[in-house]
Amino acid sequence: MSGQDQLPCDILIVGAGIAGSALACALRHHGYKIVQVEMSDRPLDTARGDHLQCAVVETLDRWGALPAFWAAGAEKRHAACYMTTGDDLILDVDYRNLPVPHPYYMYLHHDLLAETFLKVAAEAPDYILFKPARAREFDVGPEGVRALTIKLGDGPQPVDFKPGQSVTILPRLVVGADGRSSRVREVLGFTSDQHEYENPIVVNFGTRRPADTDPLNRMISFFGPKGSISRIPRAFNQWKVGVTIRKADIAQWKAATPAQHKEMIGSYAPQLAGLDLHVGGFYPVKLLNTHKWVKGNTVLVGDACHAMHPARGQGMNVAIRCLNKLVPLLPDAKDIAKPEIVARQLCAYENYAKPGIDAILAANHALGSDRDSLDPAVAAKTVKTLREIQNDPEKRLQYCIAAAGYTGPIENLSRA
Ligand SMILES: Cc1cc2nc3c(=O)[nH]c(=O)nc-3n(C[C@H](O)[C@H](O)[C@H](O)COP(=O)(O)OP(=O)(O)OC[C@H]3O[C@@H](n4cnc5c(N)ncnc54)[C@H](O)[C@@H]3O)c2cc1C
Repeated sequence: MSGQDQLPCDILIVGAGIAGSALACALRHHGYKIVQVEMSDRPLDTARGDHLQCAVVETLDRWGALPAFWAAGAEKRHAACYMTTGDDLILDVDYRNLPVPHPYYMYLHHDLLAETFLKVAAEAPDYILFKPARAREFDVGPEGVRALTIKLGDGPQPVDFKPGQSVTILPRLVVGADGRSSRVREVLGFTSDQHEYENPIVVNFGTRRPADTDPLNRMISFFGPKGSISRIPRAFNQWKVGVTIRKADIAQWKAATPAQHKEMIGSYAPQLAGLDLHVGGFYPVKLLNTHKWVKGNTVLVGDACHAMHPARGQGMNVAIRCLNKLVPLLPDAKDIAKPEIVARQLCAYENYAKPGIDAILAANHALGSDRDSLDPAVAAKTVKTLREIQNDPEKRLQYCIAAAGYTGPIENLSRA
């Protein structure tokens, strides 16, 4: 192909973050002609979450993708716990006894999760990934997106295409998986509720010491006078330590020497003072919830329609859980040329999945606001609530089920 080419396809996926790459993976055996467009030629930001809930692991298993993640170095986390900085247990969450096929979290670096999804997606016979190529010029009508014209960036583009070439993609169904600043959301005029939290999260990375060995690979959140700080296992023998800090303190964190950095981490939890950590990044946090997910032939997924506070490690997990609901509702390949069926099926998905996600976002916002407040009295209230859960076996089970990514009565868990 050369010059300005037209490329008809069944499904256009804009963005290849976790949501877009997971969708391409899930659809690889469905018989669609798929085109995916990703503007960045760099790996995803590795700090943005690497733990997949038990329910999501079950989904990846159903998609036949799980072996690729183990091959890429994924590991299992069997439990989480909340402690005081005085080493007093607040709440213990153990997934091992849940009656589900994969009673553990699976974790792998965020960038490697997306790479693995894309590697599996590439098994599809009719799949094209343009990367780098920015989706900007959309032709939009009442029926949704009619066309997208892209200019291919420098880099290894698919066979038969070359950098600098213009391509006009003519899709039957479009998925906007282009993140919090979604261009698809903008050009289609989706409206949303938004909230900017006041304080950023700082993510630190470090190497695990022999003394840190834990067969359950627990994530531990420590609660002390300065609030909470979480030590999260990462693949390849690493730790990630995340903490909400005052916006005004970013400069101090940036300028800290290694010794000062250790002291600052230790001031939150003395248990972490001995770790050799370095700052991985500072993250302003924002909630975004679009009022609709669907317009005509176009659907938004992932942060493009529901970005949330990372306090509970849910954003990418919720995105994949939504895809698990979307994929079975997509029209068959033989019906995808019928706009009325495409629109009907996408609306059915929105009606089915959105109310549950709105509820998750509301609960997540309450938790995120508590975490954002940095008020010791609010942290004390959280500790009280977590202790009540610890002391009530039924509440503890329900907490564990929700944290594992399931909803509904326990006997239906594996079908949730
Ligand atoms: C510090 C931090 C920690 C987190 N921790 C967790 C966690 O523990 N667990 C969890 O589940 N979630 C976590 N999250 C949330 C999670 O990172 C996001 O919810 C998830 O990555 C969203 O994925 P996405 O694919 O929707 O969006 P993105 O990851 O933003 O991907 C969008 C993609 O689209 C591309 N793109 C954008 N615009 C265009 C365009 N115009 N044309 C072409 N391509 C485009 C981008 O380059 C990008 O690759 C965390 C987030 C942060 C900030």
